[in-house]
Amino acid sequence: MGGATYSIDVRTLLEDLGASIELDAAVAIPVIELGSETFSPTRPARLVGAVTNTGAGIVASGTLDAEFTAICSRCLREFALPVVAPLEAFFVEQGHDSELPEEQEVGYLHEGSVDLMEQILAALVLELPFAPLHAEDCPGICPKCGADLVEGTCDCEPDRSDSPFAALQGLIDENQDA
Ligand SMILES: [Zn+2]
Ligand SMILES: [Zn+2]
Repeated sequence: MGGATYSIDVRTLLEDLGASIELDAAVAIPVIELGSETFSPTRPARLVGAVTNTGAGIVASGTLDAEFTAICSRCLREFALPVVAPLEAFFVEQGHDSELPEEQEVGYLHEGSVDLMEQILAALVLELPFAPLHAEDCPGICPKCGADLVEGTCDCEPDRSDSPFAALQGLIDENQDA
């Protein structure tokens, strides 16, 4: 994820308490690797919000609207995963954070600009699923014959109930086969 930046020039805000810059921008998002999952953006994310000089610092807040290609963890289909994430980021001039509470996460201005990319990626990652599903009820792949159950049923077991007893029955049947 390293290397990507999204900088906003905030020099016009610095002398003007309460001033803000409206944001409605397309932000190029890098591929996000999360555990064994890879999320590839299908398009730039849309960022709508504002950057404001609050006096204590520069606050960027808004909403990210992104879309990634993900792999369904049950049937291994590629699918488009929409992600909407709130963005909140706080910046001060280097050396001006001594007044802030320690738990305040803070970024630093660099040559009159703030780089939102770290906070953008953190906001998106919070909304990404650990086990992506192309549909909430994706039936996945038959553990016995490997048939893609999204396309249709297979002949393995007439009852694919989710009950733990059904799973147990499956185990007993397998042992008897052996
Ligand atoms: Zn699926
Ligand atoms: Zn099967």
